[in-house]
Parts: sequence; C-alpha cells; structure tokens
Amino acid sequence: MSRVHRIEVPIPFPVKWVNCYYIEDSLPTLVDTPLNTPGSLEFIASFLKDRGARLEDIRRIILTHGHLDHSGLAGRIAEIAGADVFVHPWDRSIITVAHAEQIERSTECFRTFLQEAGLPETQVSELVDLIMSRSARMISVMPDDMPLKHGDVIPFDDFDLDAIHTPGHTPGSMCLFNRKDGTLFTGDAVYQEVTCNPLFDAANPAGSGPYRALSEHRESLELLRGLPVKSVLPGHGVPHSKHRQRIQRILADHDRRRNDVARILRETGNGDDATEFGVAARLFPGMSGIEVFYRVCAVRAHLEILEEEGHLEVSQNGSARSYRLRDHAFPYR
Ligand SMILES: [Zn+2]
Ligand SMILES: [Zn+2]
Repeated sequence: MSRVHRIEVPIPFPVKWVNCYYIEDSLPTLVDTPLNTPGSLEFIASFLKDRGARLEDIRRIILTHGHLDHSGLAGRIAEIAGADVFVHPWDRSIITVAHAEQIERSTECFRTFLQEAGLPETQVSELVDLIMSRSARMISVMPDDMPLKHGDVIPFDDFDLDAIHTPGHTPGSMCLFNRKDGTLFTGDAVYQEVTCNPLFDAANPAGSGPYRALSEHRESLELLRGLPVKSVLPGHGVPHSKHRQRIQRILADHDRRRNDVARILRETGNGDDATEFGVAARLFPGMSGIEVFYRVCAVRAHLEILEEEGHLEVSQNGSARSYRLRDHAFPYR
C-alpha cells in the first residue's frame, strides 16, 4: 500500500527546516532530499528505519527543483541505493553547478549577474566564492539523472502522481499532483518569498528569448490556482489546505513589493543608486552574506516585470545596468 510520510529535516538556513517526503510503495520513493551536510544522511536513514525501511531500498528520487536544500543528498542516496533521480532538464545546470566541468561556466555566470546588478567589485568576488563553495559543499555529485517533464505520470501502487511544470522559482520547478485525493507536492512553487533564480542559464533554458522568472512564476501560480487541490505538501512549513488563499496572498505580495521597487526608483531618480543592488540595499537594509544574492535576484525579477510593462528605461553604466522609472503616475495598481 502506498503511504506518504513527511520528513522534516533541519537545515542551517534562516528557514530552518526543509520537507522531504518518503512514499512507502513497492517502488520506495523520495520526493526531494535535504542538504549534503553532516548528519542529514543519518537523519533520513533513521527516519526510514523507524518505518521499517533502509536507504538501500529507495528506488526513485524525484526532485521538485534543483535548489541545494531540496537536491543536496540526492547524489549520495542514489549512489547508496542505485536509485534513479528525476529532475526537470532546465534545473540540471543548478544541481550540477559545482561539478568540475561546470565550475568555470557557473562562476562566470554568477560574476556577470552580480556585476550587472551593480555590486562593488570586492563584494562580487566574495559573493561568487560564497555561492560556489556552498554549492560544492552542500550538493553531492549527481549521477546521470532522468528527465522529468510536464505531463509525465509517475505510477505508485495506489495512485499516480502527475508532473506539472511550474517554472518561476527555478526554471525547472515541478509540482506533483495526486488527482485521486487532491494532494499537491509543491516544492517551493507556492512559497511566500520570491527568490527566483534565473541565473545559471542567463538565456532562456528553452532556448528562445530571455527567461522572465517572475512572469513565469505568476503564470505557474495561476495554473495551480485552477487545480482541485485538497491538501498541499510544501517544501517548507506545514501541510495545509488553503492553496488558493496562499496563492492570492503571494500575488498581492508581489504587487506590493513591485510598488516598493518603483517607489525607490522614483526616489533615487537616475542616480548611481538605481541599480538592482542599490534598490535591494534600500529595500532590505542590513542585508549580508548570501542574503544579498537572494535579495538582488528578487529585485531583478520585479524590475523585469516593470520593464516588460514599459515602465522603465534601462541604461548601461559600465558593467552595471541602471534603471529609471518612466511612468511617474505610479503606484503600480
Ligand atoms: Zn527553492
Ligand atoms: Zn527550499
């Protein structure tokens, strides 16, 4: 009989916990794995042991997305168990970011992104080093993975999970929907804070035009809003049954945040502060360490929408981009 168990694993991030799911089945399956940090493998092994299973029994590992807090241990568990790892192809570059053959390209990608965002050069180098060392430490080397695509149906003994592509949080974010009982595994797709990550492939991973993380995210949320969901199994936090209210609140938060970004641009005029980093520093005073990266990503995502809607003039200022608000008849809505 198939049974879903939530494994709440501690992680050394501000969010404190990540949810992985063990699906008891004739093909024992994990949905997401925690970071590859000391103790986390033992944590999963002991959880499984209490339910009469072993790491070696795992046959499939399905990743909702490539972020290290959801994929870090996948390589190690796959190696121990000989399990298949399923991930959307657009998140491949995230899970392999620190693989030897990718390091140079990944480093360059981050450096360019942060320079364009207007970070001072010393901070660019520090932050690139931090991002790359975290990835190298916390993501285990992945075996060849199996592509997980929109429309795939993953069979279990008592139900099927439909794979739904919900790009935005990352390009390859996937939700898994059990139509039989209305359960939806969301990973980080229905997550309050926007830390979109359109960085590893600066071009659209699909190969045509730029990848617009927040527009994609909003479309994905609209798609999820239409599903007959009874219960959400999220990547962080407790399961809940309020998916429509959550989505509504996230969309409203986006609008509010975009208003804040526009207000700051209006206040800075076209000064040196009007970069992604400059806006982030005013919006999130005191930000430090890896948080700078996430905040800059979020600001970039909102600026992309403002630009798309014709509200911005974008100019190149050395290696950085600077922004000027065109439409002074803001606020946003
Ligand atoms: Zn994530
Ligand atoms: Zn996460």
